Amino acid sequence: MSRPRIGVLALQGDTREHLTALREAGAESMPVRRRGEIDAIDGLVIPGGESTTMSHLLLDLDLLEPLRARLADGLPAYGACAGMIMLSSEILDAGANGRQALPLRAIDITVRRNAFGRQVDSFEGDVDFAGLDGPVRAVFIRAPWVERVGAGVQVLATAAGHAVAVRQGPMLATAFHPEVTGDRRIHQLFVDIVAGRG
Ligand code: GLN
Repeated sequence: MSRPRIGVLALQGDTREHLTALREAGAESMPVRRRGEIDAIDGLVIPGGESTTMSHLLLDLDLLEPLRARLADGLPAYGACAGMIMLSSEILDAGANGRQALPLRAIDITVRRNAFGRQVDSFEGDVDFAGLDGPVRAVFIRAPWVERVGAGVQVLATAAGHAVAVRQGPMLATAFHPEVTGDRRIHQLFVDIVAGRG
């Protein structure tokens, strides 16, 4: 597969930057809002945004179970920030007032929502990322961190003593937002995973 078709879940959040980043990394990219579109893609990006809102939109649109099934079936996925929360198996501080973030259970990790936010809302810094030459500028915006990593999960980057980037087979997740920096290496890694080269 030379030019995979990768969807960006476009219910809520920063969809446009991911569509651009994926194109620049050599993929065909398209927004995904409907069930038929989920069946027509080779890989899926779940962007940052608000995981509680995204979860409820998935429920309202009857997309939660179809998406879970497609991921369980091996559809490669990359989640950034809220997207990492969505791809996890278990969410701590999942929400309040009846608005809960609902895990898609594609990666065997436990995440804590807004984990860094207790100290400071947003920050950025350089992190080493396994397999990439040179550090990645990581922008954290009310970001989660990973509190438990399952046996089959590879930790690719850490910050403040916690995993902030992980991979499990064709599933990739970062607690930070590579789409806002212009550095396309993480999107390139995902395009290569989808194309069977990564
Ligand atoms: N705090 C948000 C959530 O819980 C994530 C923030 C982000 O995606 N930038 O979903």
